[in-house]
Amino acid sequence: MHAMVLGAQRTPLRAAEIADPEPGAGQILLRVRACGVCRTDLHIVDGDLAQPKLPLVPGHQIVGEVVDGGERFESGARVGVPWLGWSCGECRFCLAGQENLCDLARFTGYDLDGGYAELAVADERFCFSIPADYPDEQAAPLLCAGLIGYRSLRLAGDAERIGLYGFGASAHIVCQVAVAQGRRVFAGTRAGDAETQEFARSLGATWAGDALAGPPEELDAVIVFAPAGELVPAALRQISKGGSVICAGIHMSDIPTFPYEWLWGERVIRSIANLTRADGEEFLAHARTNPVRIEVETFPLDAANVALARLRGGTLRGAAVLLCDATGER
Ligand SMILES: [Zn+2]
Ligand SMILES: [Zn+2]
Repeated sequence: MHAMVLGAQRTPLRAAEIADPEPGAGQILLRVRACGVCRTDLHIVDGDLAQPKLPLVPGHQIVGEVVDGGERFESGARVGVPWLGWSCGECRFCLAGQENLCDLARFTGYDLDGGYAELAVADERFCFSIPADYPDEQAAPLLCAGLIGYRSLRLAGDAERIGLYGFGASAHIVCQVAVAQGRRVFAGTRAGDAETQEFARSLGATWAGDALAGPPEELDAVIVFAPAGELVPAALRQISKGGSVICAGIHMSDIPTFPYEWLWGERVIRSIANLTRADGEEFLAHARTNPVRIEVETFPLDAANVALARLRGGTLRGAAVLLCDATGER
């Protein structure tokens, strides 16, 4: 099959012909239709996450069609593969409904080959049915940008005034979910990024502006999607007593020191790690009944490096998605 392969970190992916994957027991073989490009993929390529399988086919927002294997899905069914590819099912985290924290967990497009390819295999127990109303390229971002964003929002509790800082693929989905839940959204971007601020307002944000300076009123929670540690103390100064700053990314630059007084008043800083299958089912059920507008920029599979560069440069609007049956100039 044709695939985009990471041979070594801090080098570009290369287009390659590699052996077709074969489904083992409990696995399904998928013909990949679309695969979302996530900031985590960028952290893997750029070496911020230190221990990927190498060589690696990245990509953990896979929408594919079942070709073979497994028992749970019919042949031809449209199935989604998320970041959590496997968990042990036996450790204290797995047994407590926190499989996202399993020490032995394996992640798609990191420990396991992912979806920057024409074919992929996945453990069927960790896959999701894709809501019928979403075309392939719009369904792909639901699987991480949407799902991790949803988990972050749930852990923000009943916060009514919620900040979303770093208004990319995830925030543009979470914004719509939060507005549908009757919350007010405050979108934080880089200073002067008028285009993204306008985009956020078009999706229902009450306020959009410079994240570091913050909105003119106090917030109940802020979800930080941008990998910029300086946003954490900035957000802490913008939330009310008892409020939370939730770091949704897998990697962030160091958080600057700040006076304890800023944390005082039972303010909370927490991270979000991975996902559970229950998160996925709950979010996809929400997405079925409350259609979310997914803004995508599509790229042929062979242009994966271009998509990653656009994400690195912050010049994407919404989510980047690879169309894996279109390999561009091949
Ligand atoms: Zn476990
Ligand atoms: Zn992701």
